[in-house]
Amino acid sequence: MEKKKIAVIPGDGIGKEVVPAALKVLEVVSQLNEDLQFDFTEFPWGSEFYLKTGEMMPKDGLETLRDFDAVFLGAVGDPERVPDHISLWGLLIQIRRGFQQTINLRPARYFQGLDSPLKNPNGFDIVVVRENSEGEYSDSGGRIHHGEDEIVIQNAIFTRKRTESVMRYAFQLAEKRRKSVTSATKSNGLVHSMPFWDEVFAEVSEDFTHINTKKIHIDALAAMFVTNPESFDVVVASNLFGDILTDIGGAIMGSIGMAPSANINVTGEYPSMFEPVHGSAPDIAGKNRANPIGQIWTAKMMLDHFGKQALGEEVLQAIENVTKQGCKTPDIGGSCSTTEVTDEICRNLQNLI
Ligand code: ATP
Ligand code: MG
Repeated sequence: MEKKKIAVIPGDGIGKEVVPAALKVLEVVSQLNEDLQFDFTEFPWGSEFYLKTGEMMPKDGLETLRDFDAVFLGAVGDPERVPDHISLWGLLIQIRRGFQQTINLRPARYFQGLDSPLKNPNGFDIVVVRENSEGEYSDSGGRIHHGEDEIVIQNAIFTRKRTESVMRYAFQLAEKRRKSVTSATKSNGLVHSMPFWDEVFAEVSEDFTHINTKKIHIDALAAMFVTNPESFDVVVASNLFGDILTDIGGAIMGSIGMAPSANINVTGEYPSMFEPVHGSAPDIAGKNRANPIGQIWTAKMMLDHFGKQALGEEVLQAIENVTKQGCKTPDIGGSCSTTEVTDEICRNLQNLI
């Protein structure tokens, strides 16, 4: 019997509703599979905690989390009472950086029963593997000169180690999927970073000769996400390009409330963190109308991370059964509550496993 220690941080707003929903689903998973058990420890960190203590999480927060197998996060943010940079840097960014979560995984796919803005959404099922720690989002740069001669420099930093590691991760993931990796590039415009990116992609691909590869300029690729999303399997992208592509991925699924993500520590030295893409959504918090699917799918990604892909697939199937039968929250055109959708997913899962 395996027991996984999970640090649970519901956080703020709808995080407090969708995290319990996902835990309910995980409870069903463990009831039906005695060889996988969870030990959940909840931490009341976030904006309320900040208003009481002056910190989003305690000073030794990272040390506390370090002993866990994974961190399961809802959302943080309370823009009315806590400035965004405090809620973001005080918890999320600290964990991502402190635990060297250098890869951000964001899947997007079509679920039957959803209203996608695409004409023909059938069959798309993509995972974007985004570099999460360097690239275009660097602190390096600054303003030189002022007035008419003002010049601003924003550097992008790519290290061979991290670039290679993100590529390798993408290829390994493709091996478990439809065996195709597309690299997002722009070597015709960014003449230093992207030729390097292409070079590393080509090198790593030599170790995976059975995987199909393509490289496509980011502008064309963004357009193809809308016109032919079904032609992609795994897409590997730098920090900025991945950020943009995954927003498109979320949009074509139908609602941000559907989208999950994982922040992966590749070496396994520190825990990885699983969180939905959406924020705390203060406009709908406390109303039992938040879509729990993003958080539940996030739990599925945590199961994958623990090597339990088959169970993860069952969770995904239960989600699709429920969207197909029309039990949906208002953001995806339904009139069901958070708890109704969650209970329906649990019921479906019980029938599947
Ligand atoms: P953050 O800065 O934390 O990303 P945000 O305000 O940019 O927050 P969200 O909190 O994700 O973004 O909210 C954006 C919009 O999407 C809001 O109108 C919100 O109600 C809606 N939304 C977000 N998540 C969900 C969800 N799970 N279910 C339904 N609607 C959601
Ligand atoms: Mg936001």
